[in-house]
Amino acid sequence: MQRDRRSSDNWALIYAQSVALEKKVPLIVLYSLNGNFPDSNIRQYGFMLKGLRETIESLRKKDIPVYVVRGDAVQSVLKFINQEKAGLLISDFSPLKVYRNRTSTVSRSLSIPVHIVDAHNIIPVWFTSDKQEYAAYTIRPKILKQLDEFLVPFPEIIKHPFRSMKKPENFQAKDFIEDLIIDKSVSEVSWIEPGETKAFEMLESFIKHRFEKSDELRNDPNQNKLSNLSPYLHFGHISAHRVALVLSKLEDSTMKESFLEQLIVRRELADNFCYYNDFYDSFDGFPKWAQTTLNDHRYDEREYVYSPKQFEDAETHDELWNAAQIQMIEEGKMHGFLRMYWAKKILEWSPDPEIALQLAIDLNDKFELDGRDPNGYTGIAWSIGGVHDRPWFERAIFGKVRFMNFNGCKRKFNVTEFIYKYNAHNAHNSF
Ligand code: FAD
Repeated sequence: MQRDRRSSDNWALIYAQSVALEKKVPLIVLYSLNGNFPDSNIRQYGFMLKGLRETIESLRKKDIPVYVVRGDAVQSVLKFINQEKAGLLISDFSPLKVYRNRTSTVSRSLSIPVHIVDAHNIIPVWFTSDKQEYAAYTIRPKILKQLDEFLVPFPEIIKHPFRSMKKPENFQAKDFIEDLIIDKSVSEVSWIEPGETKAFEMLESFIKHRFEKSDELRNDPNQNKLSNLSPYLHFGHISAHRVALVLSKLEDSTMKESFLEQLIVRRELADNFCYYNDFYDSFDGFPKWAQTTLNDHRYDEREYVYSPKQFEDAETHDELWNAAQIQMIEEGKMHGFLRMYWAKKILEWSPDPEIALQLAIDLNDKFELDGRDPNGYTGIAWSIGGVHDRPWFERAIFGKVRFMNFNGCKRKFNVTEFIYKYNAHNAHNSF
C-alpha cells in the first residue's frame, strides 16, 4: 500500500484478496515509511499516519494484518518479502517519479511476480489513453467512452479466512511521528481530520451543506462551496470512484456537472500528464508553443521581483496574493480559483520561468495538505507553462500563456472581504 491508504473501495486490495482467496493463503498489507525526509513536514505526515491508524484497525478486524516498516523503502520491502516468503507482490500505482522508481527497483530485485493496480483513477491511467493527452477536450471522450465499464460498484473486502501466524506490533501513530526526521515547523491543521470515516463525513457535509444546483459560487473564494475532499483523495482515504458513484445518483445540475468534470476528467488528466511526461515538474515539460513564447519574453523587464523568502512570508505588494498565501500557510488549503492566480503571479514576479516553477512547486508541496500530488504539478504547469491550455494574446513576461490579474479577480468575487479575512493586519487600500 503506497498511495491508496484505505481499507474499502480499493481495487489493489480487492484484487489482492481475490488472488489470496483463490490460492488459499494469508493476505498481508505492507506499508513502508522512510521517515527521513527533511523536506516533508508534520502537517502532511501527521494527516497521513493518523489516517493510516484507522485503516490498520479496520483491516485487522478482517484478519488482514498491516505491517508498517521503517527505513530505506526498497531495502525494507525486499527484506520483508523475503522474511514472509511472499508469493506475489501487489502494489497500488502513482505516476509520480518517486513512486515509479521505487516500484520498479523493487520489482527488478525480486524473483516473485509484481502486479500493479491503479487504485486511484476510475479508469487505469494506461487504459484511458496510451499517450500524453493534449487537453481536457481530448481526454474527455476517451474517459466517457469507457466510464460505464469502469464506474461499477465495488466488491466488499471480506474477513480473510486464511490467517497469518504472526501478528504485527501495535501501530502507534504518535510514537511514529515523534521519531520522524521531518520538518516540524509547518504545523498540523485543525479544520479537517484524517481517515476514512472523516472522509465520508466530509463527502456527506459537502452534499448536505455546500452542494447547490448552480455552480455560480464555486469560483468564489469567500464561499465555502468546494468539496474539501482533495486531502482525502490525495492520501487515499477516500476513492474518487466512490465519490463519483455517490454524486452521479444526485439530480442533474450545473454544480454536479462541473464537480464531476473536475473530479473525473481534470483529475485523471493530471495523472495522464505525469504518467506520460517525465518532465511534469520542469520547463521541458511545457508544450513547445509555451516554451517558445516564454523564451521570447525571458528578458522582459519585471516591475516586481521577489525572493523566495518574500513570497513565502506573503510580503508582496498584492494584498490578494498575500492573503491567498496566508490561507495556504494557515489552513493547508488554498481555494482552487486562487491557486491559478497565485501561481501566475509567481511567474510575473520571478526572474525567470524556471525559478517561478520551482518556487511554486516548493511552496505548494510544503504547505498544501494535498501537495505532492499529480494535480498540483499539473495545475502549476497549467498556470505557468500553458499545459492543457492554448495560446492567448501575447503580452510581457507571459508571452502567450494565459494571464490573470487583480481586476479580473475583483470582477469575480469580493476581493476586499477575502483580503480582510486572511490579511487583516497588513491590508491597506491597494484596490
Ligand atoms: P473541488 O472543486 O471540490 O474538486 C473535487 C476534486 O476534483 C478535487 O479534490 C480534485 O481531485 C479534483 N480537481 C478539482 N480541480 C482540479 C484541477 N484543476 N485539476 C485536477 N483535479 C482537480 N490539487 C491537488 O489535489 N493538490 C495540489 O497540490 C494542487 N495544487 C494546485 C496548484 C495550482 C497552481 C492549481 C491551479 C491547481 C492545483 N490543484 C491541486 C488542483 C485544484 O485546485 C484542487 O484539486 C482543488 O482546489 C482541491 O479542492 P477541493 O477538493 O475542495 O476541490
